[in-house]
Amino acid sequence: MFKLIFGLGNSDIKNIEALAKLYAQAGAWMFDVSPFMLPVLHNALIGSSFNPDDFKYCVSVPVEGDVHGKKAKILTQKCKKCLKCQKICPQGAICNLIVDEKKCIGCGICKKKCSHGAIKLYDKTDYFKELKKLIKNNEKIDCIELHSSVANRKEVLKLLSKIAKRYKGAISLCISRKNYSTDEAFKLINQAKEILKDNSDFFVQADGKSMNGGSCDFSSSLESVAFALALKDLGIDEKKIILSGGINAHTKDLCAKFSILPLALAFGTYARKSVQDKNQDEAFKIASELVKNACEACGE
Ligand code: SF4
Ligand code: SF4
Repeated sequence: MFKLIFGLGNSDIKNIEALAKLYAQAGAWMFDVSPFMLPVLHNALIGSSFNPDDFKYCVSVPVEGDVHGKKAKILTQKCKKCLKCQKICPQGAICNLIVDEKKCIGCGICKKKCSHGAIKLYDKTDYFKELKKLIKNNEKIDCIELHSSVANRKEVLKLLSKIAKRYKGAISLCISRKNYSTDEAFKLINQAKEILKDNSDFFVQADGKSMNGGSCDFSSSLESVAFALALKDLGIDEKKIILSGGINAHTKDLCAKFSILPLALAFGTYARKSVQDKNQDEAFKIASELVKNACEACGE
């Protein structure tokens, strides 16, 4: 199945509306959106005559310190105006050396590229507060995802407990390979399962090269596939595993090569970038191909 990640920090309404419409037409299964943008997604689908019940809504929140909740800022005193950051940003979020907060997804690619230390990442909004409002208002939420790309199990479990008290639906734990060894991840999963025993379902999102800029090569999704395999070896049902982080058109072949049939492939930057600046027909063709690709990877 195909899951589209809009980007947790992405609050570019036009971009979200266009992507929702395109990937809904192409047959997406799930949309991963921030609590702030859930109404935008919902209205975009209704506005394009889709039935929202045909799609799963996954609302994502970052664990304290997770990069997905951050935004970039250019420090003008240090900036040498080389424009490298502007050219490399996968979201096109930097224009005239100003970061558009709505577009920035906190990937940090610009920060890595800047050799003058002129970019800092800072925390922006209280996602959990917004999520609580959605839960209280009984909005359609099919899954809540915790982005835990922080090497701090305590923080992950703290947020998980707060969510579990308020919400009994499905939970997905997006675990970054960068910050967790297989053993640590397994420990975290078991502790999470203990907290979530009253919830309806539990998934693990095996996050490999998170927010890598959307490159399309075999190595980009290798970490995610390897992580999923390691979890499978430890007894985690592969149909409870979603692959993310560097997922692209080659991921299907890697899944086949290593004989893993995950529940879904979660496409982020690659799926968004591939359809950028394309006409409607071209974009639909690309999106449909990616959805088909994801379904085949999952044995559908
Ligand atoms: S890469 Fe750094 S120095 Fe170059 S324009 Fe961006 S912020 Fe300024
Ligand atoms: S490269 Fe990433 S962190 Fe930097 S401005 Fe673009 S989206 Fe934001």
